[in-house]
Amino acid sequence: MTSPSSVTLVGGGCAGPLLAVMLASRGLGVTLHERRSDPRAGQAEAGRSINLALAARGLHALERAGLRADIEDLLVPMRGRLLHAPDGTTSFMPYGRTPDEFIWSISRRDLNDRLLSAAERCGVDIRFNDRCVGIDFSQGTVSFQGLDDRITTTPFAPNAPLLATDGARSAIRSAMQSAGFTSVDEDVLSHAYKELLLPAGAKGAYQIQKEALHIWPRGNYMLIALPNTDGSFTLTLFLERTGAHPSFESLASEAVIQEFFNTQFADAAALIPDIVQQFLQNPTGHMSTVRTTQWSHQSGALLLGDAAHAIVPFHGQGMNCAFEDCSVIGEQLAAGSDWPHLLETFTARRKPNTDAIARMAIENYEEMRNTVRDPAFFLQKQLSAILEERHPGRFIPRYSMVSFHADIPYFEAERRGAIQQDMVRQALEGRSDLGAMDYRMLDELVMTSLDMLV
Ligand SMILES: Cc1cc2nc3c(=O)[nH]c(=O)nc-3n(C[C@H](O)[C@H](O)[C@H](O)COP(=O)(O)OP(=O)(O)OC[C@H]3O[C@@H](n4cnc5c(N)ncnc54)[C@H](O)[C@@H]3O)c2cc1C
Repeated sequence: MTSPSSVTLVGGGCAGPLLAVMLASRGLGVTLHERRSDPRAGQAEAGRSINLALAARGLHALERAGLRADIEDLLVPMRGRLLHAPDGTTSFMPYGRTPDEFIWSISRRDLNDRLLSAAERCGVDIRFNDRCVGIDFSQGTVSFQGLDDRITTTPFAPNAPLLATDGARSAIRSAMQSAGFTSVDEDVLSHAYKELLLPAGAKGAYQIQKEALHIWPRGNYMLIALPNTDGSFTLTLFLERTGAHPSFESLASEAVIQEFFNTQFADAAALIPDIVQQFLQNPTGHMSTVRTTQWSHQSGALLLGDAAHAIVPFHGQGMNCAFEDCSVIGEQLAAGSDWPHLLETFTARRKPNTDAIARMAIENYEEMRNTVRDPAFFLQKQLSAILEERHPGRFIPRYSMVSFHADIPYFEAERRGAIQQDMVRQALEGRSDLGAMDYRMLDELVMTSLDMLV
C-alpha cells in the first residue's frame, strides 16, 4: 500500500524519472511503474528514435533537478544546420547569433539510463515490467500487471496523485477519455520515419561534420542526421507513408531502395554500405499530434508529457516540452502549491504553450524539408539576424526563442514570431538582396511592435 503523501508515476521514459527525481528530492515517496524491463540490463531497441535534440528548456529542467553533471558527458553540440544539396555541396546555417546559442544531441537510451539511476539514488521505488492496465476513478485505484500476470492495485487521491508519464499511447489518457473526463484529438501525419545508422570511421572518427544537425532537404521529404558520442550518426528519413514514388510504400525492392539513396542522398549512401539491409530491417514509425482537452481529473489523475500533448518531432521539442512540464510542477510545489490546486490549474497553465509548440513543430517540417532551399528564406534569415543584432532582447528569431530561451513561453514565442515574420516579409517584398534597406523605418517598427524581453 502507498502512503497518503506519496505519488504514483506511470511511465519511465523521458519525463517519468526526471519528475520522480524532482518529487523525491522534495521528500515525497515516489513509486514509478514502467511496463518495459530495466533498459540498463538489456539491449538497445533498434531503429527507434536513438538520439534526441536537447535544448534550453530540457536542459533547464535537468539543471533544476540537479542532474546536469549526470548527463554532461553524453552531450554532442549541434551548432547549426548543415544542408546537403543533391549535387553534394553543403552549406552551414548557424542556429544562433552568439557562440553559446546551439542545441545538443543526446542518446535517448543513455539519457534514460542516467535518469533512472538518479531516480533510484533519490529513493524512488521503480517497478519494471509493471504495466498499467486499469483505473477505477470512483474508487481512486490504479491496477498494474506484472510479468507473472499478477495484478496489483494501488490507491491514489487528490493529495497522493497518479501522474501519467506513459507517453503518446497513454493508458491513463485512454481511461480518462473512456470515462468521459477528457476529449482527445489525434492528427496522424501522412509522413512516417525510419532510422538508419551512419557508422563511425576508422578509430571512431566522424565521417561527416560532427557538431551539426545535417539535413538533406528534398521538397516533400528529407533525411536528417544527428551525431552520437561514438563517432556515428543516427539518420532519420521522413517520407510519405503511401502513394507515388518516393514513399515508404514505393520503396519496396532492394534495387529501388538503393537507387533512391544513390540518387537523392549520394554522399550519405556512400558511407553506409548496408543501407538497404538497414532500411528493410528497421521499423517504420508513425508520427502524430495529440491534443487533449483536459489533463486532470478531480480523483487525482494528471497527464503530462506526450500523454497529454504528443507532437511531431520537427522542432526537436517533444522531450524538451515534457521536461518543461516537470519544471512547472516542481516550481508550483516549491511555491507552496498543493496537489489539488496543481491538478486544477495545470491544464490551463500549460495547454496554450503546448498547443503553440504543436503548431510550430508542424510548420518547422515544411521549413526543414523545403523552405530552407529557397534563397528568399536565406535572405529572411539574414535580415532577422541583422535585426536581432540591432535589437538584442527585443527582436529574437522564433527558432531562438523556442530553443535557447527557457524563460519565453512557447505561446509568446509563436505570437512574437508571427509579428517578426510579417515585418521581415514586408521589408523584403520584391527584393533579392539586402542593399539599401531602410533600417530607420525597420528600427521604428521593431520598437513599436515588440516590447523588451530579456
Ligand atoms: C522520431 C522521433 C524523434 C524525436 N526527436 C526529438 C528530439 O530531437 N527532441 C525532443 O525534445 N523530442 C523528440 N522526440 C519526442 C520525444 O521522444 C517525446 O516527446 C518524449 O519521449 C516524451 O516523453 P514522455 O516521458 O512523455 O514519454 P516517453 O518518453 O514515450 O515515455 C513513456 C514511457 O511510458 C511507458 N509506458 C507506456 N505505457 C505504459 C503502461 N501502460 N504502463 C507502464 N508504463 C507504460 C513506456 O514504456 C515509456 O517508457 C522525438 C520523437 C520521435 C518519434
